[in-house]
Amino acid sequence: MTSQIVVTVIGHGVRLSEELKQKITTFLSGLEDVKIDSEAVLSARAQDYFLSTSRSVASLRELVGSLDAGDVDIVVQENSKFRKEKGLVVFDMDSTLIYQEVIELIAAYAQVEEKVAEITERAMNNELDFTQSLAERVGLLKGIKTATLYDEIKQKLRVTQGVPELCRGLKKTGCKLAVLSGGFTPFANHMKEALELDFARANVLATENDPAQAGVEVLSGYTVGDVVDGECKAETLLQLAREYSVPVEATVMVGDGGNDLPAMGVAGFGIAWNAKAKVQQAAPAKLNTKSLQDAFYMFGYTDAEISELLA
Ligand SMILES: [Mg+2]
Repeated sequence: MTSQIVVTVIGHGVRLSEELKQKITTFLSGLEDVKIDSEAVLSARAQDYFLSTSRSVASLRELVGSLDAGDVDIVVQENSKFRKEKGLVVFDMDSTLIYQEVIELIAAYAQVEEKVAEITERAMNNELDFTQSLAERVGLLKGIKTATLYDEIKQKLRVTQGVPELCRGLKKTGCKLAVLSGGFTPFANHMKEALELDFARANVLATENDPAQAGVEVLSGYTVGDVVDGECKAETLLQLAREYSVPVEATVMVGDGGNDLPAMGVAGFGIAWNAKAKVQQAAPAKLNTKSLQDAFYMFGYTDAEISELLA
């Protein structure tokens, strides 16, 4: 009989200590109605535990959450073929594919940092929802010349460690890749090109001709079309899965924000990447290492398999 559940321990350091491995083995085998069928080494700092149990993934996640194991992420998921066979991986952009928040870069460029910070604070106090705060922030950008703004910001974007490798490796397996951003299309499309993603969706900034200067395009101070919020990300993920004929079980959402949770909820798997505590708690899995390439461990790849994929 095959194990129903796989638990993966991913260390933040260079290796998992023998002491820690022992602690995890003792903890898992001590749980009622849990039997460790086998263990598999993925890397010096990542290890799988295959379990036979009638417990649900959710109940095991809760139990494992109570284990104090130090600087590791512990992932609990169904041991199905879809763990490795990914058909569609969708990424959030700000603080996920890139280290920064684009709106903050734009605010600095437009010298409206204080005003943007004030809107962010009101949004965090739930005085504004995402759509309202987006509208207020974009309103501050009215009249900015688009050409120089877009160039300046694109040059500043710093891709998160491990992202190029993860994308390249997944593409090799035939997996489709997408970015869904609550930011703006010029930058999401830029990342799509840079990382050779299959699809990008973000908010569209309205533009107009500068009445003072013929032929110069400036921002109108509002967005056009549907706002890319949490619901939109979830719907788009499902839409893409249908379009690419990918079973929902083979889809993944990777993000750091509360507005990535709805998409994680509908996807086959979800990864909270260095996210706020609330998001980590609500997400199917969390990853708090330095490199997003470590997602391969969650998908069951060994170091040797990762090297082969990236060669
Ligand atoms: Mg984000």
